[in-house]
Amino acid sequence: MVTQYPNISETNYFTNRALQNDSGEKTGKILMWRLKTGEKFHYILKCPYCGETTERDEQFEKRPYRPWCGKCGKKVMVEKIKSKKEK
Ligand SMILES: [Zn+2]
Repeated sequence: MVTQYPNISETNYFTNRALQNDSGEKTGKILMWRLKTGEKFHYILKCPYCGETTERDEQFEKRPYRPWCGKCGKKVMVEKIKSKKEK
């Protein structure tokens, strides 16, 4: 499947970040966005636990958003980006 990435200006949420497994290794990643015209988030998750890539649309009611892996079923947490001083 070829995913068409949106233009950032067409989204009201967009994140692209690394995800850690239980050992703190950054073995996964997630790309997630929501279009201004849509209610659902679209995400492409590379599971930090099993390495499987899951892509789907899902609606999240509140933070933190918890996309989940379609293979092992584990959820990952997409929290608000922390402030810069913690970088
Ligand atoms: Zn998994």
